Amino acid sequence: MFETLDGLYTEFTGWLFELAIQPLLYAIGAMDWAEDAYNWLDFFLFGLLQIVVIMAVCWPLEQWKPVERWKTRSVVWTDVFYTVLSSLGLLPLIAFVLLYSAEERIFGWIADSGFIPPTIEEFLPWLRDWPLVALAIYVVILDFGEYWRHRFQHTIPWWWALHSVHHAQKQMTYWTDARNHIIDDAIAAVWFGVIALAIGVPPGQFPVIVMLLKVIEALSHANARISFGWLGERLVVSPRFHRVHHGILSYGEHGKNYAVLMPVWDWMFRTANFDRSRYPETGDPTAPEALVTGGWLRQQWAGSVRLWRALTKRRRPATAKPVAGN
Ligand SMILES: [Zn+2]
Ligand SMILES: [Zn+2]
Repeated sequence: MFETLDGLYTEFTGWLFELAIQPLLYAIGAMDWAEDAYNWLDFFLFGLLQIVVIMAVCWPLEQWKPVERWKTRSVVWTDVFYTVLSSLGLLPLIAFVLLYSAEERIFGWIADSGFIPPTIEEFLPWLRDWPLVALAIYVVILDFGEYWRHRFQHTIPWWWALHSVHHAQKQMTYWTDARNHIIDDAIAAVWFGVIALAIGVPPGQFPVIVMLLKVIEALSHANARISFGWLGERLVVSPRFHRVHHGILSYGEHGKNYAVLMPVWDWMFRTANFDRSRYPETGDPTAPEALVTGGWLRQQWAGSVRLWRALTKRRRPATAKPVAGN
């Protein structure tokens, strides 16, 4: 199944590249960039497809059963901008340019050392005949990694400073999933990439996994009064389940529902809230106004200031006593 889809996709991108990108590069005398442009086109199309799928799933649900109705939606547009930036490859493009030399050096070093990371298929060779089972195992492991990354985002002070950008939104919609500090996005990409590499996810399956996680993540942020029922709530993260996580700050209740795809981790580590009547308001009362209603740049800046404060606070010697009156 993956091979056919992959083949069709490659054919389509090749066709589009020859039709639109190649003539343009030729016209501006930038044919040296052909390979980079091709890679970017890949990012771009995949991101576009992702947005289309997410809108097709989430938009009707938000219209059907909204939890909240707002007079103005200007702060929602900021989240739309976040989504476009991260999905259409603009951020990956910047990261690519910045990290290119570092990446080459790292890969060169790995190749020189002769180190090949062990993969799950080496331990369980029969998985090669069961690609869907293998896919499910990769998803479970990656989701476990996401659960712990998310818990660290809430417990490590500098990481929370970054993640607070995500939690500041009071008008949460399916676009809010992409509302993150760019440093946080970069860390997330490395975290996910390293785990995927370590367990040996085949490159062809990687986009399928990313798409699955992104659609569920976007859906879990939807402004929709939707729970998946007693059993469903325990199997897949629903809009209700994740809303409780976003309500923790305004609700005065801490540390619930960190899971990204499967609530089983919250169940296991006792951080789950399965009360199906709960649709709290979202937001972080301690967030500065710039983080709540500012545009992209102001939010990034406010997040960076929070990060700086968290980092410099940490450097103070542990024995230092607060000065009276401060
Ligand atoms: Zn969170
Ligand atoms: Zn969230």
